[in-house]
Amino acid sequence: MVRRAPRRVLILGGTTEARLLAAALATGPAADPGRLVTSSLAGRVAEPRLPAGQVRIGGFGGAAGLADWLRAERVEALVDATHPFAEVMSRNAAEAAAATGVPLLALRRPGWSPAEGDRWHPVASLAEAAAALPALGRRVLLTTGRQGMAAFAGLDALHFVARSVDPPAEPLPAHTEVLLARGPFTLADERALLREHRIDVLVTKDSGGAATAPKLTAARELGLPVVIVRRPELPGGVPVAEDVAAAVAWLTAGGPTA
Ligand code: NAP
Repeated sequence: MVRRAPRRVLILGGTTEARLLAAALATGPAADPGRLVTSSLAGRVAEPRLPAGQVRIGGFGGAAGLADWLRAERVEALVDATHPFAEVMSRNAAEAAAATGVPLLALRRPGWSPAEGDRWHPVASLAEAAAALPALGRRVLLTTGRQGMAAFAGLDALHFVARSVDPPAEPLPAHTEVLLARGPFTLADERALLREHRIDVLVTKDSGGAATAPKLTAARELGLPVVIVRRPELPGGVPVAEDVAAAVAWLTAGGPTA
């Protein structure tokens, strides 16, 4: 059977990789004027970095709403390039793809791996991270994002430095300094931050990628413990591309198989 590369592609975005994929499909060797690529953003960030091509912003209304959108827009391939912790959207994508028969690919950068000297404490959730903290330190650098701060809200004996792109959602722990910043961050910046704020424990999701990895190196250098929240599982049966090149190949080399 001869397969045809999809002409109508929806990228569920909100990540660097999603933007790089949209850019790779818009310009360069994989560009194709006959293909319409739309990137979808949740609309959580006040001033998002917009991807190349068409962009839509806001939720679809669950898996059923996404399925309706795929049908209405005659989408021929769906790429879930959301953040590894955007668990609901990934589940909705799998359900909508199954309901419509639209081929689905997950674009997921690999998670981080510990190196010699790391003092990692893997946990399954933000709640587990909060429970682990009092035994590990007093001054916490929290980099788990603006949502989910409520998990730490009861820890009034600890001092938090919470770094996020937009102001974090309340409730916050009683002693919280908010640092608004968007990566990438350099190793020198991260070392300085940990020292200036006398941080003695770091909390992060296992987001993976280079843009925010230097905090792990800085923590290792200073011998600090790191509470690392493990990734949720992707829905079963969804093929995974670990980088943009693999996703481009899936979309262009004869087209995906359903
Ligand atoms: P989530 O909990 O998995 O999804 C909650 C709801 O937000 C979804 O049901 C969907 O609403 C809407 N949504 C999520 N991603 C969307 C997208 N790309 N386009 C349109 N609607 C979307 O998601 P989340 O963890 O809040 O993440 C929201 C966005 O931020 C995602 O795009 C993700 O890539 C990005 N992000 C998340 C994190 C993180 O740590 N979770 C970190 C960095 C970036 P409907 O049901 O109405 O369709």
